[in-house]
Amino acid sequence: MSLFKKIFDAGVVGAGGAGFPAHVKAKSKVEYVLANGAECEPLIHKDYELMFHFPKEIIKGLELLIESTSAKKGFFGIKEKNVKAISEISKYLNGKTELTKLGDFYPSGDEYELVYEATGRLIPPAGIPLDIGCVVNNVETLYNIAMAEKDITVTKKFICVAGAVKNPSSFFVPVGISFKDVIDFTGGSKVKEFGIFVGGVMMGHLAFDLNEVVTKTTAGIIVLPKEHYLIKRKNQPEQNWHRIGKSACDQCSYCTEFCPRYLLGYQVEPHKVMRSLQFTKTGAAVWNQMADLCCSCGLCTLYACPEDLYPKEACDNAKVEMRIAGIKFAQQKPVKVHPIKDGRRVPLKQLIMKLKLQDYDVDAPFNSKNISVSKVKIPLQQHIGVKAKANVKQGQTVKAGNLIGRVNENELGSNIHSSINGRVTEVTNKYILIES
Ligand code: SF4
Ligand code: SF4
Repeated sequence: MSLFKKIFDAGVVGAGGAGFPAHVKAKSKVEYVLANGAECEPLIHKDYELMFHFPKEIIKGLELLIESTSAKKGFFGIKEKNVKAISEISKYLNGKTELTKLGDFYPSGDEYELVYEATGRLIPPAGIPLDIGCVVNNVETLYNIAMAEKDITVTKKFICVAGAVKNPSSFFVPVGISFKDVIDFTGGSKVKEFGIFVGGVMMGHLAFDLNEVVTKTTAGIIVLPKEHYLIKRKNQPEQNWHRIGKSACDQCSYCTEFCPRYLLGYQVEPHKVMRSLQFTKTGAAVWNQMADLCCSCGLCTLYACPEDLYPKEACDNAKVEMRIAGIKFAQQKPVKVHPIKDGRRVPLKQLIMKLKLQDYDVDAPFNSKNISVSKVKIPLQQHIGVKAKANVKQGQTVKAGNLIGRVNENELGSNIHSSINGRVTEVTNKYILIES
């Protein structure tokens, strides 16, 4: 059976957060395959732990992809500071793959950044790595590809739980486990009232519902006290972002000057997007276009702006408004790296201090203990593309690894499998509930 089919059957999707169905990449023909181990979200260390403990499997996944895409070379992006993981990974590298050692900056893990650092190539505006002969996969996706080759389906997610919990750690959990069960496994929260950043404080979302569940793309869970600066900032009502932005933005343009996409040469200028708030939307159609190539990294809002305004959120809104208006932005000048790019990089330690997270900046070691759960709620949409269709009925008995939701092979989407042994107790058009 082809690798494409095995990956499709196993339901492998981008595990770093994007959720792009991995079989599509395995089918392409490229020059370079890149492993993305450049984890850069503050406090999340799960890729580091995975690379340190499972280097053989990750390299196996990378080699399988190099072979299936007929690539001439692989690059392994990893931060220079991760000396122990580099040493483990290096034991399994063959001559076809080169390490790309990266500085400890945010956002080193952005695909555009990594491809440029490794190959010197710039992805065309609004393009994907495939446009310049590359495919990029997170290291956990590569691990899952190695498992798929052995017909092991994706039923577990490797996550990092950090912040105000008793034992910050990284471990495998069944897909569909609740945040409550996950936090309990770390010994519980250190504070009574807290919020949860799902996927990271920079690019993730803020949740308060402990019944929310881990999906195939959940990289980490950061628990922070309710009164923490980041929770308060993220929890501001949307009208406040605009009201404060309208009155307080002095067009200093720091948000643009620190924007990693702008520094790579893309026409992303959040300070201009802020003008669409200032001038009571006069010219919004023009200013909003300066948001189109923004990757929502959050650096402008959470690091650059001296006034604590919300340029990232203004960009997010602008992209939605442009889509509704049917406006498509086309970059008007060649993509050229800014001469000051290297001098404007944001060291992770500095970002952590700015975010007032230094008290939580600790390791999250691998815990190999099995976590047992009596119930999982498995969403049918955990990936980019079409939602999987349930193919089990209420009352049916399932085993971990059984197919419970499927997509057609010619669709962009991903199969879904049961993550525990049990009985299906509810099937909706959004999720499948399984109880042991
Ligand atoms: S950094 Fe803040 S104040 Fe300066 S232009 Fe951007 S949004 Fe306005
Ligand atoms: S979130 Fe801000 S800093 Fe990040 S890419 Fe978008 S505009 Fe640039």
